[in-house]
Amino acid sequence: MSLEQNLNTLTKKRYKKSIEECDNKELYYSLLELVKEKTGEKPLIEGKKKVYYISAEFLIGKLMSNNLINLGLYDEVERLLAAKGKSLAEIEEIEPEPSLGNGGLGRLAACFLDSIATLGLPGDGIGLNYHFGLFKQVFKNKLQGVYKNNWIEKQSWLHKTDITYTVEFGDRKVTSRLYDIDVVGYNQGVNKLHLFDVESVDESIVKRGITFDKEDIEKNLTLFLYPDDSDEAGNLLRIYQQYFMVSNAARLILQEMKEKGYDLHRLYEHAVIQINDTHPTMVIPELIRILVMEEDFTMAEAIETVRKTCAYTNHTILAEALEKWPLSYLWKVVPQLVPIIKELDRRAALCFPDPKVRIIDGENRVHMAHLDIHYGFSVNGVAAIHTDILKESELNHFYRIYPEKFNNKTNGITFRRWLLSCNRELSGLISETIGEGYKQNADELEKLLSRKDDMVFLNRLEEIKMQKKRALVAYIQEKEGVSLNPDSIFDIQIKRLHEYKRQQMNALYIIHKYLEIKRGKKPVRPITFIFGAKAAPAYIIAQDIIHLILVLQDIVASDPEVSPYMQVLMVENYNVSYAEKLIPACDISEQISLASKEASGTGNMKFMLNGAVTLGTADGANVEIADLVGEDNIYIFGEKSEQVIAHYAKADYVSRDYYEKSPVIKEAVDFIVGSQALKAGHKKNLERLYKELLNKDWFMTLLDLEDYIAVKDKIFEDYEDREKWKRMMLTNIAKAGFFSSDRTITEYNRDIWKLK
Ligand SMILES: *Cc1c(COP(=O)(O)O)cnc(C)c1O
Repeated sequence: MSLEQNLNTLTKKRYKKSIEECDNKELYYSLLELVKEKTGEKPLIEGKKKVYYISAEFLIGKLMSNNLINLGLYDEVERLLAAKGKSLAEIEEIEPEPSLGNGGLGRLAACFLDSIATLGLPGDGIGLNYHFGLFKQVFKNKLQGVYKNNWIEKQSWLHKTDITYTVEFGDRKVTSRLYDIDVVGYNQGVNKLHLFDVESVDESIVKRGITFDKEDIEKNLTLFLYPDDSDEAGNLLRIYQQYFMVSNAARLILQEMKEKGYDLHRLYEHAVIQINDTHPTMVIPELIRILVMEEDFTMAEAIETVRKTCAYTNHTILAEALEKWPLSYLWKVVPQLVPIIKELDRRAALCFPDPKVRIIDGENRVHMAHLDIHYGFSVNGVAAIHTDILKESELNHFYRIYPEKFNNKTNGITFRRWLLSCNRELSGLISETIGEGYKQNADELEKLLSRKDDMVFLNRLEEIKMQKKRALVAYIQEKEGVSLNPDSIFDIQIKRLHEYKRQQMNALYIIHKYLEIKRGKKPVRPITFIFGAKAAPAYIIAQDIIHLILVLQDIVASDPEVSPYMQVLMVENYNVSYAEKLIPACDISEQISLASKEASGTGNMKFMLNGAVTLGTADGANVEIADLVGEDNIYIFGEKSEQVIAHYAKADYVSRDYYEKSPVIKEAVDFIVGSQALKAGHKKNLERLYKELLNKDWFMTLLDLEDYIAVKDKIFEDYEDREKWKRMMLTNIAKAGFFSSDRTITEYNRDIWKLK
């Protein structure tokens, strides 16, 4: 049966209509069924050893386009639909985006699943099936409003399985249910994303916005990702969620091992568990508990078996993100793990008495990362500079004990989604120029360098950028009701809102530019500043930064003297689908975190691959991007990580000194509480942000502001040298191969997993 007949049969069966007669929605659900059927025909990827990637987040994005590409069906489906007057691109819009992640860490997990399957490695993801996931963001009154994100529909990519387990907490028992999503590799077989849910979950307990009874665990356990942890009930709920995730994971892994007839004493020969950040850490004591209680292991045997099976990835050095659970909380939620954690702490302390490496500290808090490091066999950072900082400062005490455990795995992104799917025009041009080999061997992108002086090729790159800018402008017009100028420079900062990422520094530049234009200094070409970011609901200053950006958006838009030269837009509800539209249209990629604070970043890689030029600090993977493209093809500014670390050590950064020393900084900061801003915005939010910047500024915004302004002015100037700019675009694309997650996963497998 041809694909067309196949689809036609489905539309007839479902709706009693031919393909032509169906609307986009009907076609979407028919295609969903078709793709699930086709995926079912692919073999499961198998082998004698398998990786289990446990993560609290999988920010997988919409799956239709990616699955069609990976199944090799995209072009055929697009053609057959076009012949009937239907647009696959429009049909894809129907799909709701799964809300199973927060930001980079969850997106990384999704890219990894794609690469693991594409490389033909046996490997499943394990996580939770959050019904509302991360909130949906709506701007109201220039402030972030939050709503539940109801993404699960009757028909979806989720397969309900008949696997259920009983999970026991200190004060209750719940029954879990496993749902699976197929992960199909590019021209490859299939792995699984296992998502556990709780049978007793009750969506109706969510009242206004995202408020619900945090103590009704049976009903709320899998409703939201990272529920507000600003109070004790929120923290306890996180521990319930984490234990629920790892208890199910441990059951599933052991069940699979037994079904294959493996000896659990040799678990590590058949399974490796990658612990993505500290959220799944309790899998270590949980596995030990099960092996001792149910499988007749001695404590020593269980510990050694688990130690050889588990590996830990560190994603941050931010103190607030390193989990430390009070022992009293663990007593309440998972009392069965407490004696084991105490035993693990006792044994570690016997070998290493240094209090800095204790699992349970003097205040009876359990340091989850310490548990991972002592009782796992590998500790990896996610970019070269990040791993160096872990070794030399943050985890230096551990590095001195276990140098052999530490290794770097610079993050990567899947080119199937971040090039082939989101920028078909560019991937088409690349295929035409250097062949299709780069799709499986990303290093082949370097072949593009031979076109460095080929003006015809460079002009086509520029045309594609223009095409993607026009497409974005049309999308934004429809979605946000804002008309952007496609002939302007698109300067884009999209990422979770956090002070360390310094969206506020970008906002201060915008104020500076606004005031310059008011004084008559007009940019040669108009500039469009685009932001996209969600802020954690309990993170007050982050909300204030969103407010400031929305205030600036209003001030600029309503000023006819300025708006022809610059526009500001913060898009609502930034997510993977939005990223896929914004990134191909970008000229300047803003990666301006305070040096040492962004472990890697992956947005930076997506932009580079799509021909944007990076304006960034020497932080995370920006450092490796700079090494690859060379200093002529990137704009690096600001103090280096060693300098920043020294400021923290000496506590010598005083933001007010920078404010008082520099009239440019003073003018921009004062604008936040000037009459114009106060008229457009809310006094409470603006004054709080102003005071934060002047009196604290923990992430040192003002430290780098003058340098940022100078380098940003230079990048806009250089944009006018079109030939030079197009060459920079080319170099960035050509050198992006290193950042394929296929390379990252090849390294994980070579150094850590050793699957085959
Ligand atoms: C890639 C991605 C991120 C991570 O961006 P960073 O700039 O690395 O922080 C966050 N959210 C979404 C939706 C993404 O696609």
